This record gives sequence, structure tokens and C-alpha cells, in this order.
Amino acid sequence: MADTNFYKSDLRELEFALFEQARVQDLLGKAPYAHLTEEDARMVMKEAHTFATEVIGPTMSGTDAEGCTLTPAGVKVPAALKPLWKQYFENGWHAVTLPESRGGMGAPHLLGVAVLELMSGANTAFHMYPGLTQGAANLIAAMGSPEQRERYLTRLENGQWSGTMVLTEPHAGSDVGLSTTKAVKNGDGSYAITGNKIFISGGDHDLAENVIHLALARIEGAPKGTRGLSLFIIPKIRVKDDGSLGAPNDVTCTNIEHKMGIHASATCALAFGEKGQCQGWPLGGEPRADEEPGAGMQKMFVFMNGARISVGTQSLGVASTAYLNALEYARTRLQGAHFKSGRGDKGAVPIIMHPDVRRMLIDMKAQVEGCRALLLHAVMLEDRALQADGPAAEALHEDFSLFIPLVKAHLSDVALHVTSTALQVYGGAGYTRDFPAEQYYRDARIFPIYEGTNGIQALDLVGRKLSQSGGALIQRLLKSIGEAQARVKATSGYEREAQALGQALAALQKVLGQYMAFFASGRMDQILVSATRFLELLSRAVCAWLLLEGALIAEAALKGISADNRDRDFYLGKIGSARYYARNLLPPLTGLADVIAAGDDSALTLPDSAFSLGF
Ligand SMILES: Cc1cc2nc3c(=O)[nH]c(=O)nc-3n(C[C@H](O)[C@H](O)[C@H](O)COP(=O)(O)OP(=O)(O)OC[C@H]3O[C@@H](n4cnc5c(N)ncnc54)[C@H](O)[C@@H]3O)c2cc1C
Repeated sequence: MADTNFYKSDLRELEFALFEQARVQDLLGKAPYAHLTEEDARMVMKEAHTFATEVIGPTMSGTDAEGCTLTPAGVKVPAALKPLWKQYFENGWHAVTLPESRGGMGAPHLLGVAVLELMSGANTAFHMYPGLTQGAANLIAAMGSPEQRERYLTRLENGQWSGTMVLTEPHAGSDVGLSTTKAVKNGDGSYAITGNKIFISGGDHDLAENVIHLALARIEGAPKGTRGLSLFIIPKIRVKDDGSLGAPNDVTCTNIEHKMGIHASATCALAFGEKGQCQGWPLGGEPRADEEPGAGMQKMFVFMNGARISVGTQSLGVASTAYLNALEYARTRLQGAHFKSGRGDKGAVPIIMHPDVRRMLIDMKAQVEGCRALLLHAVMLEDRALQADGPAAEALHEDFSLFIPLVKAHLSDVALHVTSTALQVYGGAGYTRDFPAEQYYRDARIFPIYEGTNGIQALDLVGRKLSQSGGALIQRLLKSIGEAQARVKATSGYEREAQALGQALAALQKVLGQYMAFFASGRMDQILVSATRFLELLSRAVCAWLLLEGALIAEAALKGISADNRDRDFYLGKIGSARYYARNLLPPLTGLADVIAAGDDSALTLPDSAFSLGF
């Protein structure tokens, strides 16, 4: 249903997560956030909520229905996105975490992701354009040469130009090392680029006057694989020395994908150098002779790590509005008598009164809030690292890096689960376009796929992060969960929850011990085949830990408020989410750990042909 504003968010819950649990205010007032106060942060949240709800929200359904079109003049995005893009930048929403020195607000990442949840939840397809533009700007700011920063940053940061992240080729998806896009030295500092990329979000559009591609290509003679890739700045239109636009740079959009969801986001196939006239400039200037092989990929990881957090955040934004819409529907849809009513009483009740619907609602509520707590905890580590020095800062950076695959994979998996459950709450109506549930479900389906599939995230977790610094990252995390478990155990009335968290911790320890045994006996395939399950196990334990911490905060807050205070129900809701999560979503983890530790090899030993299709 075009032009209906379906966007819903819960500012009270966001404020709880940000100010009562993550306590963003503790970061403020000291460098690098010395210029900000709690009042500033609260004001930003209120304004972001208004902008997302009143300005972005109304564009979601109509721009999805209209979609993007490839014309001889390039890609046209849905009309409503143009004024929105302009307003978004004029209001400074791209600049919440941008340092003051670059004209931004210089706010902590905690505030940045809370704002991002609102913006990308309101129209997730739209938000990909400014999101990737900000990512490209951050990468140029971090890794570009002074001349490149001067040339590109201001225009990327005021929305005059936009940015992309260009890795994927038809034969090189998860395995980026198979890329064949080529770069040949021109002798004037530029390289001649030739190659075909696919699935490039915002690869072409008419929102901004130029598109700055940050693309991987292999310099002639460089080694095969990821270690031979370099990162280039390739503008769609060349930029003259004075910053004005020059000739087109031989980058052509040859196709846009017709996708299941995020229709308003142009997913482009791009041909670089079809006429032999595409120029790219190495990010950071001419690669030094002593530059590490694979420096291109290392640089791209600056972009990708930010994008992984953004995908987790957009997943949360969409899951949250899907839940809140379903909740509202469940309160108004009358169907079926209450199970306690007598035989003669046929009066239909709101479906929220049926136990199975309540199960769906509390499951969505608890999972959304658990994901929000996980995300905010992760980025708080990054913020705290910026306020620490030496080894303490290093440890916080490492701890944050352990969370990146969890944020990307767990939040996107939950988004899929929640949007599907939300649709179920609507019954048949959810399957129609009269309600937003079907769009949320379609849009969410990409989240576990792009920015490194969730399978690849799980491999990053077990293959890299678990063993990093001799296993110190995971041990620090388990210690934090263990300490929280002791606090929960010491709280009267939380015995069941403490026991469940203790068992989840034991399940994690069991798997880690078994992983050591698999590793020692050369059974790496057992680690790889169970990586996704381990990521799920760890993520759920973290969500439960943080939800229970939130419940203890809510218990304390309840002691100080009167029976008629509206916050009472809110805090009861926080406690309800935590209890539900601990009692319902933790116990299965013990079984999951048993399955992993048992080392079943059915999936591994079955001959390829026995998977069938052969008959
Ligand atoms: C809408 C959309 C937008 C996108 N935007 C961008 C963009 O802006 N820039 C960009 O560069 N790319 C973009 N992509 C590409 C996206 O990042 C890739 O689709 C994704 O990385 C997976 O690559 P693939 O599709 O080739 O799948 P494949 O790599 O072929 O993977 C297929 C399956 O095999 C699994 N798999 C592959 N290798 C392994 C392995 N070693 N171990 C275990 N499992 C494995 C995967 O997990 C997956 O389940 C976008 C894609 C879409 C659909």
C-alpha cells in the first residue's frame, strides 16, 4: 500500500538501552566526546526518532513499489528518494559520528548505531545509499592520501557525491581472491582499470552528481589470490584538480538486479573500462615497493568491518518495526474466543489474548531487545577503546573485533526469524501488500547474505577470532558472562535464570574444549561444519547475559516508582523479556553443545552423489 507510513519504533526502549544499560553518558564529557552532554545525546535521539518516523517512514512502501530503472542516461531511483537524500544530508544525519574536525557531531558509536537503527529501520533500502557513502568517506579519511582526502571527502560528506564498496565479480563472491579486474599502470599516477563487477549497491543512481567507487583490482603482475589485490578510487565521472567534474570515466551500469526485496536500492552490474578509458587511483597513493601483499584487502576491511556493524544495525531496525507492527495488529484483530471462556460464549477476542500469539510476541520482543543489547555492548567496546591507552585500548579493540561476526550474523538471522514470525501474527493478511510484514520479510532476506554470508562470518569467528591472542578474546568474554551470572544468582527470584545462564556457559566451555580436541586430532572439518551453530550458541549466551543485566537494572528502577507510573509496565516488560529469553532460548543450547561435541560426520562423509538428483 503505497504512501502509508508503517514505521514504528520504541523510543523508550532505545533510551533504556542507551542511557540506562549501556550508559552512553559515562563516555561524554571527556575526549574525544568532551563537547557532548547527556542532554545533547537525548535531544539527538528525539530528533532522529522524529526524522525517521515522519520523513523517512512514509517513503518505504511507495519506493519499494516503484523500484529502480535502468535508462540510457543511467539508473533512476524512485522519485521520493531525491528530496529525502537532500534532507538527510542537510539535517546532518550522516554526520552523527563524524569527527568535529570533518564537520560532524563527533558523537560516540553508541549514539551512532542507535540513530542508525532508526534511520535504516524506517526505509532500509534508502538508507543503503547514505550508509555506503559514509563508509566510503571513512575509508578515504583513514587510508587516503592527503590529496585524496582533499579531493573527495567534503563532497562525499555533504551528499554531493556518493560512495560504493566494489568487490564482487560473477566468479568471485565469498572468494574475493578470484577477482580478475585488472589494473595497468598509466605512468601518471593513475591505472587503467578493466573488469566486470556485479551486485554493487548504489553502483549507479541519480541521487548525487558523482559516484566514487572503492574497488578491488589486481595490478598487472601481482600475485594470485586476495594477497595480490589493491584498492582503487574509481570515480564515475573524473574529478579535475579544482574539484569540478570532468569527462565520464568509462564506468557503465550494464544491468540492475530484479530482486526479492530492497527494491529501492539499485544493485548494479558495472563494466569498468569497456572502451579502455577507465582510470583508477590507488587508495593512499602509489603502492610502496615494501607494501604488504594483500594491502588492498586489509584496507577494504576498514570499510567491511563498519559495513558489518551497519548490516547488523539495519537488521535490528527492520526486525524492531516488524515486531511493533505485529504487536499493534495483535491488539486489534478480533478472532476466536478466549480459551477460558465458556462453551456458549463465542465472542471473538483480540488475538493477543491467545497463548500461541503471545508466544510469538514475546519471542520477537525478547530477541529484538537481546540483539539491541548485543549491538550496543559491542560498539561500547569500540568507544571505550578510544578513551583508553596502551594495552587496555588494544584489548578493547580486540574484544570489539570478536563481536563483529556476532553482530553481523546473529542480528541478521534474528531479523529473518522475527520478520517471518511477525508475518505469521497477521495470518493471511500478512502475506498481502496491505500490510508491511511481507516487505519486511523480503527486505530482511538479504541481510544474512551480503557483506560476507553468515557462513563466512561463522568461519571468521571459529577460524580467526577464537584463536586470536592465544584465545584471550573469548576467555575475556566468558569471564564477563560468568561474573554476570554470579550477580544474577545473587538476586532473589532469579535462580532459574542464573541456572540457565550457568548451563549456557558450561555449554560454551564444553564446545571450546571439544574444539581443542578436534584441532589436536586434525579434525578441522568438525570445527567448520559446526561453526554456524557455535556462533548461534555464543550469540544467544551474550544476549541472555545482557538481557539479564537489563532485568536487574529494571528491578532496581521499579523499587523507586509508584504503581501508576507508566514506566512500571515498561520495566516489567524488560524483566519479562529477560526471563523469557533465559528460560526458553537458553536451555536448547545444552543440546546444541552436545550435538557439536558429538562430532557427527553425516554431512561430511556422505558422497556428493548421495545428496541425490541422480534418479
Ligand atoms: C542485494 C545485494 C547487494 C549487494 N551489494 C554488494 C556491494 O555493494 N558490493 C559488493 O562487492 N558486493 C555486494 N553484494 C554481493 C554479496 O556480498 C555476495 O552475494 C556475497 O558475498 C556472497 O557471494 P556470492 O553471492 O557469490 O555467493 P557464493 O560465494 O557463491 O556463496 C554461495 C554459498 O556458499 C557458501 N560458501 C562460499 N564459500 C564458502 C566457504 N569457503 N566455506 C563455507 N561456505 C562457503 C556461502 O556461505 C553461500 O551460502 C551484494 C549482493 C546482493 C544480493
